[in-house]
Amino acid sequence: LTIGVVKETKPGERRVALVPKLIERLTRRGLKVVVEPGAGAGAQLADDVFTEAGATTGDAWSADIVLTVVPPSIADIERLKPGTVLIGFLAPLTNTDEVAAMKKAGITAFAVESIPRISRAQGMDALSSQANVAGYRAVLLAAQRLPKFFPMLTTAAGTVPPAKALVLGVGVAGLQALATAKRLGAQATGYDVRPEVAEQVRSVGAQWLDLGIEAAGEGGYARELTEEERARQQQRLTEAIGGFDVVITTALVPGRKAPTLVTAEAVRGMKAGSVIVDMAGETGGNCELTDPGKDIVAHDVTICSPLNLPAEMPVHASELYARNLTELLELIVDTDGKLAIDFSDEVVAGACVAGRDEEVN
Ligand code: NAD
Repeated sequence: LTIGVVKETKPGERRVALVPKLIERLTRRGLKVVVEPGAGAGAQLADDVFTEAGATTGDAWSADIVLTVVPPSIADIERLKPGTVLIGFLAPLTNTDEVAAMKKAGITAFAVESIPRISRAQGMDALSSQANVAGYRAVLLAAQRLPKFFPMLTTAAGTVPPAKALVLGVGVAGLQALATAKRLGAQATGYDVRPEVAEQVRSVGAQWLDLGIEAAGEGGYARELTEEERARQQQRLTEAIGGFDVVITTALVPGRKAPTLVTAEAVRGMKAGSVIVDMAGETGGNCELTDPGKDIVAHDVTICSPLNLPAEMPVHASELYARNLTELLELIVDTDGKLAIDFSDEVVAGACVAGRDEEVN
């Protein structure tokens, strides 16, 4: 079997789906790795680093198993031969035309965002590995935009108090954001509607903001708030937000528009120079004034909405992602290097977004 590593073409995407240090783990199983020339360039991985690790360069789209980072276009899907296994972020809930094209082309596709978030699949959890990178980068972005120090400083020229950072939504990205803000010396506070998160927030040395609204949903995710809860949450957050220099928002509800946590009124109540980094821009943003993909200034507050933070740290984002994919590959390829897709396995079945019916019949 050949594994193809394609060159990502989406503007700004610098990650690559496999890194040289994992190639031996695959070739040991008798798999061959074909890398599209230039695939690793954005992540500082030249073609010869891949070939020295045992890969060849060539047409990765004609491989038996094709690995990508971002969802391929319909034109790229049509380049795949029938029977190809495609693995990557495939956005199955929104890219329905692309998924239909995969089914039509006879592709078996596994979307990493659909991998069940159970303990056994932790090593394959690309949502988590990339959210970790994003949470870290979001804090660095905020620190750079803030016209103040993050840490407390006692100097001959005076004492500087620490910046106050609030993280709204403490999943994987939010927890990393809190930990990073702490490491940079800020006073960090976390808020979420899942009460079990309070302990995790405290475990990274941050404070917990309790607004008395609980909305734990299914599978460890939050549920959407009722109209009344939403109004109460927005009002309480508006009161709290004015006391912070930095607000980082990460709140998502699967399959829904991102909840509005920071209203225009809350932005107006912030001190001049404060910074909001809205990590939910792709689904509309958590701040009412967010312009997805842009940095804007409103009421003297900088509001950043980066849409692909992991791509801004492509070396480690690619390494972690490649390890996620390698673990998934090891689940669907046996030790003799043959495809062994077991659809009765809940991880395999959960991740599969195309090609399952054909296999079952
Ligand atoms: P996410 O990116 O889907 O959402 C980010 C956070 O936003 C969540 O913590 C959510 O509770 C919060 N949120 C949603 N609506 C909100 C609102 N109105 N106000 C405030 N906060 C709101 O989250 P995620 O990082 O993907 O994590 C989701 C769940 O998956 C968590 O329970 C996490 O522990 C779990 N998880 C499990 C595993 C595993 O066991 N393999 C791995 C990673 C994550």
